[in-house]
This record gives sequence, C-alpha cells and structure tokens, in this order.
Amino acid sequence: MKEILVSLLQKNRKNNFLKNKVEFRCKCGYSNKISYLDFFSGGDFRIGQPIPTLSPFISESVYDETINVTPLYLSRKCPVCGEEITAVFPLSLENLISILQSQPPDPQMYG
Ligand SMILES: [Zn+2]
Repeated sequence: MKEILVSLLQKNRKNNFLKNKVEFRCKCGYSNKISYLDFFSGGDFRIGQPIPTLSPFISESVYDETINVTPLYLSRKCPVCGEEITAVFPLSLENLISILQSQPPDPQMYG
C-alpha cells in the first residue's frame, strides 16, 4: 500500500494539491508547517489501522454501508523540547489515493 501511495505521489509531484500544508504542533508551543509532499517525501510516514466508518454517501437504497478510513501519521522530533510530535494527515489514505488517481494525466501527453 505504501508503495502505491509513494508512486502516485511521484507522479503528482507538481500537483498544486500537494502544496497544501500539514501543521505540527507541539505542546511546548512550537509549531511548524510542512507541505503534503514533504509529509510523505521522507518515506517515514506510518499507515495506521483501517477504521471501519459508516459511509457518508448513504442513499435510501443502501443500508449500513461501511467504508474503511485509514489514517496516515508522521512523527517529528520537536526542535525546541525534543518531544515527539505526531501529525495526522488531514485526509485518509483512501481519500488521498482517489484524489491522486483522479488527477488529469501529464499535460505532455497532449503534445
Ligand atoms: Zn516541543
């Protein structure tokens, strides 16, 4: 799963979506923002346990549909107090992959 994500991120490297920021906030008051791309580029992010969640897209004809929501984490040491700060990526793994897969192909393909 991690490999799929990393290769999708490679393909989407220039995507503006990946310039969004994730904030690390330490209890000592230190905070730092890194881009989505930086969040994953070190390769040391963690994929959490999938959490079954009731689908937000339930229609009248579908009952009890559950989807898996897999959280993504990245830990950094706080440069001020040395505590480990864990940031949770704002999107689930499933959401992130579907966003990256829905991006238009490289414009070079159209010459
Ligand atoms: Zn700190």
